[in-house]
Amino acid sequence: MAEPFVDLRSDTVTRPTPAMRRAMAEAEVGDDVFGEDPTVARLEAAGAAALGREAALFVPSGTMGNQIALHLHARPGSEVICDRRGHVVLYEMGAMAAISGLLPHTVETERGLLTAAQVEAAISPDVTYKSRTGVVVIENTHNMAGGTVYPRPRIDEILAVARRRGLPVHLDGARLFNAATALGTTAADLAAGFESVMISLSKALGAPVGSLLAGDRAFVHEARRVRKMLGGGMRQAGILAAAGLIALEEGPSLLARDHENAAWLAGELAAIPGLATDPAAVATNIVMVRVTPALFGGETPDGGLAAAFLAKAREAGLLAVPISPETVRLVTHRDAPRERIEPALTRLRTEISAG
Ligand SMILES: *Cc1c(COP(=O)(O)O)cnc(C)c1O
Repeated sequence: MAEPFVDLRSDTVTRPTPAMRRAMAEAEVGDDVFGEDPTVARLEAAGAAALGREAALFVPSGTMGNQIALHLHARPGSEVICDRRGHVVLYEMGAMAAISGLLPHTVETERGLLTAAQVEAAISPDVTYKSRTGVVVIENTHNMAGGTVYPRPRIDEILAVARRRGLPVHLDGARLFNAATALGTTAADLAAGFESVMISLSKALGAPVGSLLAGDRAFVHEARRVRKMLGGGMRQAGILAAAGLIALEEGPSLLARDHENAAWLAGELAAIPGLATDPAAVATNIVMVRVTPALFGGETPDGGLAAAFLAKAREAGLLAVPISPETVRLVTHRDAPRERIEPALTRLRTEISAG
């Protein structure tokens, strides 16, 4: 493989910056299960402020944040309404069923974005022979749909339906700051009205570990109990929170550049015969590319189109992930500047024309 490679598998591959490592080394810490870690407390306060909520909880992962929320919002045997390709249903190890006895009620959507009418239609009627709806989950940006963004009016319509039907709505905002950047608004604006909000510090914002789960004080108090139940009570976690604070303060302003790079990358890939992308669909830092047989002289290689393309990309020093037999995902981030992507693309074009 050509060196140095550029890793576009995910924005989770971002490494802590020198400033983060210094802050980690110097962090004031205490036992956070006793509520005595001042750095964790500062991160939770900063997170609550950034999201416009009363309180926030530092959790080890986005998955744990989402699952704590679902556990608190819905009773065992009830349904979770979400998009068919939602992270909570596809990539959390069946946790909603395994931990909380919940059933996914998935909805086929356009670009991963639910509509109020779809949510309304998915809510169970109040009859004695059908499981109840427990909670609605919105994912913003939507990962598997390619980093798509909810327009705020669409969210308001969904929240209005949920409120009328007495249902809580959880926001899986792993990449909420990317959505805010794309819309030119704040994360707090996009988080308003939800019963709970999860954001990832460890993705494009650049922290090594951790997510935040925010809501009102009573919710976060209960969430702290469930976090401990799941084994997520951490002791001198200020070492991690110190990096999270820098990610939260400095990360959001760097996202616009990731988005510009994604749009540019989509255009470059679309220009390669045999690859299909829709540059107009690239709203944030995720690019989905369809690999067609034309890339391989009209043949579908053994092992599939995506795998064969990724092997060529790897030879060129560029890493991405398959998300279906013919689709690959590339994610731009702060550790993949355009100067590193460009030479990899040049080598990739050479690899491809060599056949
Ligand atoms: C990454 C991600 C999560 C979960 O984050 P982990 O920290 O990897 O558990 C949740 N939701 C979405 C939309 C994500 O992209």
